[in-house]
Amino acid sequence: MKRKNTSVYIGVGSNLGDRKANIAKAIELVKLIKGVELKRSSSIYETEPVGGPPQGDFLNGVFEIETTLNPYRLLEELQKIEKHLGRKRTVKNGPRAVDLDILLFGKRKVESKNLKIPHPRMCKREFVLRGLKELVP
Ligand code: AMP
Repeated sequence: MKRKNTSVYIGVGSNLGDRKANIAKAIELVKLIKGVELKRSSSIYETEPVGGPPQGDFLNGVFEIETTLNPYRLLEELQKIEKHLGRKRTVKNGPRAVDLDILLFGKRKVESKNLKIPHPRMCKREFVLRGLKELVP
Protein backbone atom coordinates (compact mmCIF):
# COMPACT_ATOMS: atom_id res chain seq x y z
CA MET A 1 0.00 0.00 0.00
CA LYS A 2 1.29 3.48 -0.86
CA ARG A 3 2.13 5.52 2.22
CA LYS A 4 0.20 8.71 2.64
CA ASN A 5 1.91 12.04 2.08
CA THR A 6 1.93 14.39 5.03
CA SER A 7 2.28 18.20 4.76
CA VAL A 8 5.23 19.38 6.77
CA TYR A 9 6.55 22.88 7.45
CA ILE A 10 10.27 23.38 7.86
CA GLY A 11 12.03 26.48 9.14
CA VAL A 12 15.42 27.33 7.65
CA GLY A 13 17.93 29.88 8.94
CA SER A 14 21.52 30.95 8.33
CA ASN A 15 23.76 33.58 9.87
CA LEU A 16 27.21 32.46 8.73
CA GLY A 17 29.02 32.81 5.41
CA ASP A 18 26.95 33.40 2.29
CA ARG A 19 23.59 33.15 4.00
CA LYS A 20 21.48 33.31 0.87
CA ALA A 21 23.56 30.63 -0.88
CA ASN A 22 23.46 28.41 2.23
CA ILE A 23 19.67 28.53 2.31
CA ALA A 24 19.41 27.91 -1.44
CA LYS A 25 21.74 24.89 -1.14
CA ALA A 26 19.83 23.53 1.85
CA ILE A 27 16.55 23.69 -0.07
CA GLU A 28 18.15 22.00 -3.11
CA LEU A 29 19.38 19.18 -0.85
CA VAL A 30 15.96 18.82 0.81
CA LYS A 31 14.47 18.35 -2.67
CA LEU A 32 16.86 15.43 -3.22
CA ILE A 33 15.68 13.49 -0.13
CA LYS A 34 13.85 10.34 -1.25
CA GLY A 35 10.23 10.52 -0.15
CA VAL A 36 10.18 14.33 0.01
CA GLU A 37 8.53 16.72 -2.42
CA LEU A 38 8.96 20.49 -2.09
CA LYS A 39 5.63 22.29 -2.37
CA ARG A 40 6.01 25.99 -1.54
CA SER A 41 8.48 28.44 0.00
CA SER A 42 7.96 31.68 1.91
CA SER A 43 10.05 34.75 1.19
CA ILE A 44 13.47 34.87 2.81
CA TYR A 45 13.76 37.69 5.37
CA GLU A 46 16.33 39.07 7.79
CA THR A 47 15.88 38.69 11.56
CA GLU A 48 17.88 39.48 14.67
CA PRO A 49 19.28 36.55 16.67
CA VAL A 50 17.28 35.47 19.73
CA GLY A 51 19.39 34.24 22.66
CA GLY A 52 22.88 32.78 22.40
CA PRO A 53 26.11 34.75 22.16
CA PRO A 54 26.42 38.03 20.20
CA GLN A 55 26.26 37.08 16.51
CA GLY A 56 25.20 38.33 13.10
CA ASP A 57 21.63 38.64 11.86
CA PHE A 58 19.91 35.64 10.33
CA LEU A 59 18.21 35.08 7.05
CA ASN A 60 15.12 32.97 7.69
CA GLY A 61 12.35 31.37 5.73
CA VAL A 62 9.81 28.57 5.91
CA PHE A 63 8.97 25.96 3.31
CA GLU A 64 6.32 23.32 2.89
CA ILE A 65 7.06 19.77 1.81
CA GLU A 66 5.06 16.60 1.44
CA THR A 67 6.72 13.47 2.68
CA THR A 68 6.20 9.77 3.17
CA LEU A 69 9.00 9.70 5.77
CA ASN A 70 8.21 9.57 9.46
CA PRO A 71 9.27 12.58 11.61
CA TYR A 72 12.36 10.82 12.99
CA ARG A 73 13.64 9.80 9.55
CA LEU A 74 13.00 13.31 8.27
CA LEU A 75 14.96 14.83 11.18
CA GLU A 76 17.86 12.47 10.40
CA GLU A 77 17.92 13.62 6.79
CA LEU A 78 17.74 17.31 7.76
CA GLN A 79 20.60 16.87 10.21
CA LYS A 80 22.72 15.26 7.48
CA ILE A 81 22.15 18.39 5.38
CA GLU A 82 23.07 20.71 8.28
CA LYS A 83 26.26 18.72 8.77
CA HIS A 84 27.06 18.66 5.08
CA LEU A 85 26.68 22.43 4.87
CA GLY A 86 29.18 22.88 7.67
CA ARG A 87 27.15 23.33 10.79
CA LYS A 88 29.20 22.67 13.87
CA ARG A 89 27.32 22.18 17.11
CA THR A 90 29.83 23.92 19.33
CA VAL A 91 28.04 26.83 21.00
CA LYS A 92 24.42 26.44 22.07
CA ASN A 93 22.29 28.81 19.99
CA GLY A 94 25.51 30.02 18.33
CA PRO A 95 25.99 31.05 14.71
CA ARG A 96 25.22 28.46 12.07
CA ALA A 97 25.68 28.05 8.33
CA VAL A 98 22.31 26.37 8.18
CA ASP A 99 19.66 25.40 10.68
CA LEU A 100 16.68 23.26 9.68
CA ASP A 101 13.77 22.78 12.07
CA ILE A 102 10.62 20.72 11.71
CA LEU A 103 7.91 23.17 12.75
CA LEU A 104 4.73 21.22 12.00
CA PHE A 105 4.22 17.66 10.78
CA GLY A 106 0.63 17.29 9.63
CA LYS A 107 -1.47 17.11 12.78
CA ARG A 108 1.05 14.97 14.60
CA LYS A 109 2.44 15.65 18.02
CA VAL A 110 5.86 14.30 18.91
CA GLU A 111 7.37 14.47 22.40
CA SER A 112 10.64 12.60 22.48
CA LYS A 113 14.05 13.53 23.78
CA ASN A 114 15.44 14.48 20.37
CA LEU A 115 12.32 15.60 18.60
CA LYS A 116 9.44 17.81 19.65
CA ILE A 117 6.66 18.75 17.25
CA PRO A 118 5.19 21.33 17.04
CA HIS A 119 8.62 22.87 17.53
CA PRO A 120 8.44 24.23 21.11
CA ARG A 121 10.59 27.36 21.04
CA MET A 122 10.31 28.37 17.46
CA CYS A 123 6.57 28.40 17.06
CA LYS A 124 6.21 31.45 19.27
CA ARG A 125 8.96 33.34 17.51
CA GLU A 126 8.39 36.05 15.00
CA PHE A 127 11.08 34.77 12.62
CA VAL A 128 9.19 31.50 12.17
CA LEU A 129 5.66 32.85 12.36
CA ARG A 130 6.31 35.37 9.62
CA GLY A 131 7.14 32.67 7.07
CA LEU A 132 4.39 30.35 8.31
CA LYS A 133 1.80 33.12 8.01
CA GLU A 134 2.78 33.69 4.39
CA LEU A 135 2.14 30.02 3.59
CA VAL A 136 -0.84 29.38 5.90
CA PRO A 137 -2.54 32.72 6.54
P1 AMP B 1 19.20 23.68 17.58
O1 AMP B 1 20.67 23.65 17.85
O2 AMP B 1 18.48 24.73 18.31
O3 AMP B 1 18.87 23.65 16.11
O4 AMP B 1 18.65 22.30 18.16
C1 AMP B 1 19.00 21.10 17.55
C2 AMP B 1 18.42 19.95 18.34
O5 AMP B 1 17.03 20.13 18.53
C3 AMP B 1 18.61 18.63 17.63
O6 AMP B 1 19.53 17.86 18.35
C4 AMP B 1 17.25 17.98 17.60
O7 AMP B 1 17.30 16.66 18.09
C5 AMP B 1 16.41 18.86 18.50
N1 AMP B 1 15.03 19.02 18.07
C6 AMP B 1 13.93 18.87 18.85
N2 AMP B 1 12.80 19.10 18.18
C7 AMP B 1 13.18 19.43 16.91
C8 AMP B 1 12.45 19.76 15.72
N3 AMP B 1 11.10 19.82 15.73
N4 AMP B 1 13.15 20.03 14.60
C9 AMP B 1 14.51 19.99 14.62
N5 AMP B 1 15.26 19.69 15.69
C10 AMP B 1 14.60 19.39 16.84
